[in-house]
Amino acid sequence: MLALVCTLAACTPGGDEPQADSSQRPSTASTGERPGAVQQRPAEPGAPGIGDPYYPDAGNGGYDAQGYDVSVRYDPGSGVLHGDSTMTARATEPLSSFNLDLRGMTVESVHVDGAPARFARRGAHELVITPAQPTPADERFRVRVRYHGTPGRTESGLGSNGWHRTPSGGAFVMGEPPSASFWYPANDHPRDKATFRLTARVPEGWQAVSVGREEGRSTRDGWTTSRWVEPEPVAGYLTTVAVDRFDVVRRELDDGTPVLNAFAPGSEDLRAEARRTGEIVRFLESRFGPYPATTAGGIYLGADTGYALETQGRPTYDATANLSTIVHELAHQWYGNEVSVSSWADICLNECFASYAQWLWAEGKEGDDLDARYHDAVDSVPRDFWEPQLYDMGAGNEFSGVYDKGILAMHALRRQLGEKTFWRVMRSWPREHAEGNASWPEFERFTERVSGRNLDGFFAAWFRQSGRPGEQQLYPGTLSN
Ligand SMILES: [Zn+2]
Repeated sequence: MLALVCTLAACTPGGDEPQADSSQRPSTASTGERPGAVQQRPAEPGAPGIGDPYYPDAGNGGYDAQGYDVSVRYDPGSGVLHGDSTMTARATEPLSSFNLDLRGMTVESVHVDGAPARFARRGAHELVITPAQPTPADERFRVRVRYHGTPGRTESGLGSNGWHRTPSGGAFVMGEPPSASFWYPANDHPRDKATFRLTARVPEGWQAVSVGREEGRSTRDGWTTSRWVEPEPVAGYLTTVAVDRFDVVRRELDDGTPVLNAFAPGSEDLRAEARRTGEIVRFLESRFGPYPATTAGGIYLGADTGYALETQGRPTYDATANLSTIVHELAHQWYGNEVSVSSWADICLNECFASYAQWLWAEGKEGDDLDARYHDAVDSVPRDFWEPQLYDMGAGNEFSGVYDKGILAMHALRRQLGEKTFWRVMRSWPREHAEGNASWPEFERFTERVSGRNLDGFFAAWFRQSGRPGEQQLYPGTLSN
């Protein structure tokens, strides 16, 4: 995500077709009836949160989502969305009930493995589902939820999260930390990534665009249906759907990766920048290693939301994005998407890295002297610039220092490690946790392992403490000249 504030880096201008419930619920309930099966604990309700201390109710416990198959029908005229979503998951403990996250919307029915299940709504976003029979640990199960309503949104530190309407009458969903649960029932926390498939129906003349590969489009009886498949695990907030009168431009990267740029009315100013997508990906590959996403491109909205978001393989840009924003959101494909945070306290793993990519672009493409830039910044920033902690900054403060202090911290880290080691760390980190999750403390340990050095003092001064780092940490390596 990149807010449209003048950071150190960005001061430039700028369906309801029924799905078969084919699998059958196993007849064994909760105890080891199968020969050789491990004795199971009694089934209990799954936790209403995944265990993120900042957002205790975010996500859910007791299962691991493997994939979502979401069908939506959306009419921009009425603003009503009809959804039919199936989550395939594996129980990680014997479950008498479990939760999904869903904000607003009217739930019509819930089926677990084809059998009707009881459900209740609790709090802001808990959909509590009680299957007819308990779900044994390690069993795969399928939950189908049919629902409808006008999707909503909430305000967060960065802006508006959730469902937005566009000036042209369309709509899109965008947000962080929560996002998926505004439009489909999900385990809405990046710790539980899953594959994602979307079938979207919109009235003829409108187009839906999502993440993943485009798997066909057809129009019948006044409705256009499009299908999208993201075969790699994706965090809920990195999925999206946008409905508008898009002009869709399709290209390929040199290696055949499909590029799809969708331009909503009002986004014309960004076409020249969007044409540089391949060049930006190639540049970032030269620094970070092979591009990790299955698609590239962008969704260019005509709307002004105040921020852009790195939706997987196809970031979403609001009307005031610029070239630097595109560099930032594409860098997230390595840092944030391929390797995602374990908890929201780890957000620097996404934002410090993606923001530093904007400096790397300025260095590599525009010949900027980053040491000079760094010195200028250190000498000119106000005292409160140093206040935010970059790790474990507290709920609601996730985005306060990571876009500017985070850049200086990354540049200092580079000078602290030296070129060879820094680039080894940058390139191997996404591979080390490919398609997975990691925490900030894991990154510290990883960097110490790769460099063979104890970096406690450096990490404490820059990332774990508030305030300006001491001279030794502020001017490592060539920065001391
Ligand atoms: Zn970002």
